[in-house]
Amino acid sequence: MRDASILVLATGGTIAGQAGSATRRDYRPGQIDIADFLASFAELGLPARLTGRQVANIDSANIGPEIWRELHSGIDAAIADPRCDGIIITHGTDTAEETAFLLDLTLPTAKPVVLVGAMRPADAVGSDGLRNFANAVQVAADPDAGGRGVLLVMGDQVLAARDARKARTSGSNAFEGFPRGAVALATPASLDWLQPPWRLGEAARYAFPTEFSEVPILHAYAGQGADSVTRLVEAGAKGIVLAGLGEGNAPDAVRAALADAAAAGIVVVRATRVDEGLVDREPADDSNGFVAARALGPAKARILLQVLIANGITEPQLVQQAFNRR
Ligand code: ASP
Repeated sequence: MRDASILVLATGGTIAGQAGSATRRDYRPGQIDIADFLASFAELGLPARLTGRQVANIDSANIGPEIWRELHSGIDAAIADPRCDGIIITHGTDTAEETAFLLDLTLPTAKPVVLVGAMRPADAVGSDGLRNFANAVQVAADPDAGGRGVLLVMGDQVLAARDARKARTSGSNAFEGFPRGAVALATPASLDWLQPPWRLGEAARYAFPTEFSEVPILHAYAGQGADSVTRLVEAGAKGIVLAGLGEGNAPDAVRAALADAAAAGIVVVRATRVDEGLVDREPADDSNGFVAARALGPAKARILLQVLIANGITEPQLVQQAFNRR
């Protein structure tokens, strides 16, 4: 069998970061270019032919619509190209969940598409980048990785984009999956799928947004007033994601202001500021015109809402259906 042919789209982050010292704390992400990065893999004898393309070389805090659009069109073309077997995106971990989920919603599932990052720069003691990338190659080279949507490889775990979130600020096991945990375990020498593909042969669920509309995240807190909502409405929000208390709650005044916003046509989604757990629909959601984020945290709920608005889906019942999908 021939080696898999894999396109690597590089965007920067800590996986391409350097500190200039093995112990310094103030490293810079996005320093190593993709040609040099891939050269360091030549001697590992990975079972794949890797072709690199530099899309950006930045901290993922600065990634947004422009780079997302470039990634989307590059991957879409690679999926259609019979010479390409899989795609890897190297990415900073801070916003990896947003990029992974946006691509998951807007690409077909025909071929493996894998995001990978690192928590420690390339020249740090115990750097995880080399290993995470070797694991990502295992995944991207496996045809069985298709039909699972976009995947995120970190710390020997493979997570589905819809489930993945950054749950810890440091350490090589920074990511968690909810409601599914890891869908596979990967090492540079092995790959074990823990469940069958769940999206085989699926076309892109939504068109890639031509415009990303204003959808702020409103963080809930004790003592919060209605003005926190009116400010967002006056600033032209098309949707609001509540990072609510507990199961998507907020003080009464905030709730009332959000119901007014929903009545005025702004799509309001209740998520939670709690690290993990479902926000299910409650009876009052019908009269308030709210949508429950279910298993999606605020950052991913915001991405889905932007995609839905761009696709003309703003009616709360239809928005709810999209949030209910696996
Ligand atoms: N600030 C970095 C980034 O997201 C952190 C990382 O990659 O781990 O680009």
